[in-house]
Amino acid sequence: MATTEWAPPTERLEHVRAFMAERVIPNERALEKQDEAGEKLLAQLQDEVRELGLWAPHVPPEAGGSGTSFLDYAYLNEHIGRSMFGQLVFGCQAPDAGNAEILHLFGTDEQKERWLQPLVAGQIRSFFSMTEPEVPGSDPTTLRTRAVRDGDEWVIDGHKWFSSGADGAAFGIVMAVTDPDAGPHARATQIIVPADTAGVDVVRPIEVMGHEGKGWTTHCEVRYTNVRVPVANTLGAEGAGFLIAQRRLGPGRIHHVMRWLGQMQRAFELMCEYSLQRETSTGPLADKQTIQNWIADSYAEIQACRFMTLDAAHKIDAGDEARVEVSAIKFFAARVLNDVIDRAVQVHGARGLTDETPLARMLMQARAGRIYDGPDEVHRQVVAKRILKAFANGTGWQFS
Ligand SMILES: Cc1cc2nc3c(=O)[nH]c(=O)nc-3n(C[C@H](O)[C@H](O)[C@H](O)COP(=O)(O)OP(=O)(O)OC[C@H]3O[C@@H](n4cnc5c(N)ncnc54)[C@H](O)[C@@H]3O)c2cc1C
Repeated sequence: MATTEWAPPTERLEHVRAFMAERVIPNERALEKQDEAGEKLLAQLQDEVRELGLWAPHVPPEAGGSGTSFLDYAYLNEHIGRSMFGQLVFGCQAPDAGNAEILHLFGTDEQKERWLQPLVAGQIRSFFSMTEPEVPGSDPTTLRTRAVRDGDEWVIDGHKWFSSGADGAAFGIVMAVTDPDAGPHARATQIIVPADTAGVDVVRPIEVMGHEGKGWTTHCEVRYTNVRVPVANTLGAEGAGFLIAQRRLGPGRIHHVMRWLGQMQRAFELMCEYSLQRETSTGPLADKQTIQNWIADSYAEIQACRFMTLDAAHKIDAGDEARVEVSAIKFFAARVLNDVIDRAVQVHGARGLTDETPLARMLMQARAGRIYDGPDEVHRQVVAKRILKAFANGTGWQFS
């Protein structure tokens, strides 16, 4: 890992590490409340990050961020991801981060000025509205939401859910079928919809594992009834919805995994520390072989996830789509994340389920990782199909 090509951005990394340890982690409980004091504190922390020149590390300076490369971002996110508030404090939280990336790549100058600039600056929030309750989200060619041209306007009708962060957002990027007769991957278009457009109804934040959330922590059901927006709000080309979704979700999956690395390492540290500290009549928990096995397995699995993530980030920086690498790390890391946090909870016994440690909250958040941005099963299928195709073509698979 010490090769120059994969070298970490040492100085920025140290600033991020220190800021997370000194300013974010100690303030988690206050931020969690999402009340007036919590929001004020959040704004203050965000200002401090801006002053440090670390704001929005997922996008380059020309898009208003401080990003350099995907690989650097992987290293930074390993620390930012230690707290669920890290990405918010550093201005790179989902789904705004992914939306900013596609607006930067595919937006017109007007769209960038109206939506991208305030989004990256943290002045507004956004949502991404693709999944629908009536059809399988893992197969988006089945989407039903329609957008029909009427002069220079789109008229959108449809029903979405799990539009994360829609509560209080300024706009959404809506995936709608614009040409039902086109091939499965040319039917849909992405359209920017201001949230205050007549006919946009954020029906409710869906209660997920007992939590409704507020603002950016919500996952909302949204109805679109006769929603009219200018055709100028089309993001990219008409019919390019899937292509853009792929450009958004590929890096987006890696963003998740980068953040999970921070979560895994935090759970791992808590597990090690507590196993040394908790005494039984025959010695500390750390002396038990089962606990040692959990620590050893967790170490090996976390390190495997780190290397797989850095490898995928390095390939993306080199212009490769890295489809196999991205899918492999998405399903593998989601499993490791859940396993490591679960082991840490188990080592803590009943305390692991309380809010005396961050583990219970982390476990709850981690479970969704095996479903959003494609369930494990779909990513396994992508990996296997691509590798088998290479063997069927006679080229075989090169590990590189
Ligand atoms: C916390 C959270 C946040 C989310 N945020 C957003 C968001 O902001 N915007 C948005 O549009 N969506 C969002 N989603 C939705 C998410 O992307 C979908 O849930 C996901 O794509 C799966 O779709 P589905 O829930 O309809 O499950 P389905 O597609 O119905 O699949 C159900 C199950 O079937 C199995 N399955 C499916 N396909 C296969 C296969 N090929 N082989 C084997 N088994 C298979 C899997 O076990 C899968 O879990 C979010 C979801 C969660 C949980």
